[in-house]
Parts: sequence; C-alpha cells; structure tokens
Amino acid sequence: MVRENEIRQGEVAIDPPPATDAGLVYIGRIATPWTSRLVAPRQGRADGPICRIEIFEPWRQAMDGIEKYERLEVLYWLHLSRRDLVKQSPAKDGTTYGTFALRSPVRPNPIGTSIATLVGVEGTTILVRGLDCLDGTPLIDLKPDRTLFKPIAPPQPGDFETEMGSG
Ligand code: SAM
Repeated sequence: MVRENEIRQGEVAIDPPPATDAGLVYIGRIATPWTSRLVAPRQGRADGPICRIEIFEPWRQAMDGIEKYERLEVLYWLHLSRRDLVKQSPAKDGTTYGTFALRSPVRPNPIGTSIATLVGVEGTTILVRGLDCLDGTPLIDLKPDRTLFKPIAPPQPGDFETEMGSG
C-alpha cells in the first residue's frame, strides 16, 4: 500500500484521465484519532476507538431510522490518496499486485468502505467503532449493513431469477 504517495520498486503509475469526481457530494466529515497515514489502522476493527461521523445539516433527515441498525456500512473519500497506480507493492519488496486485487486507499476513485458498529447518535453526529480513516476524511454515504437489511419495497421479477430461470 502506498502510504505517502511514494512510488516503489516495481510499481506502475499511469497518466489518468482528469478527475471529475463524478459530481459526488460530501455529506459529512469523519472525526477520528488518526492524523497520519503512517499510524491509521490498515482496516478498522470492531473494538477500535469511537469515531464521530458528523452529518452536514441538509442531510439530517436522512439519518432517520439508522439507530435501528447495529452496524452501518460507511463509505468515505480517501481524499489524500494518489489515483494513478495500476500496480502496487504493499510490502515494498518489489512484488506487485493489481490495484483491483487490493483494498489499498490508492485507486482511481479512492472510495473507502468499512462496516462500523453503531455506538450512538447525538443530534447530527453518529458515533461508531470500526473505521480506519484519517481525521477530517469526507463522508460520501451511509447504509445499513447489507446482512441486516431486508428490502422494504415489494419484490420485483428479477428477485426470483436464478441461473436456471424464473420462479
Ligand atoms: N476500510 C477501507 C476499505 O477497505 O475500503 C479502507 C482501507 S485503507 C487500506 C486504510 C488506509 O488508508 C489507512 O491505513 C491509511 O493509510 C489510509 N487512509 C486513511 N484515510 C485516508 C485519507 N483520508 N486519504 C488517504 N489515505 C487515507
């Protein structure tokens, strides 16, 4: 994993197309104990420190109902990442892996995801454990953990389709 935007032996960078960030809207900001990529956890842990997800005011009503879920899927924008590596050497030993075979923060669209344990909700702040991002990382989405969520809308034909056919 690239830690501070350096290039390592065997790694390959390309000239990427101009970033437009697909018109993403940052819906909040995440407060964590980590201010350096050199100390942040490589992956969040369920018994990690409490982090605070601050939801920006226009999105407050979108929080309704999240308190019912023990775990949330948190999507964030790894804003300090370089975005041009197609081969990476996480162990810095010249052995490289394709970017899409890694969970490195360095990717064309640096989206990070974690399953976080909900600790509580205080106004527009959501308290969770299980994150691995730097203090101040922009939030791009929140969803219930998919294993806890059952679709509320009625099923559609595609829900019954299998490799063998419908029904
Ligand atoms: N859990 C997420 C995932 O699997 O999609 C992210 C995993 S990534 C390996 C976590 C690492 O990203 C941290 O250890 C830190 O080095 C780096 N990182 C965290 N926040 C970042 C940010 N805002 N910008 C760039 N890199 C960041």
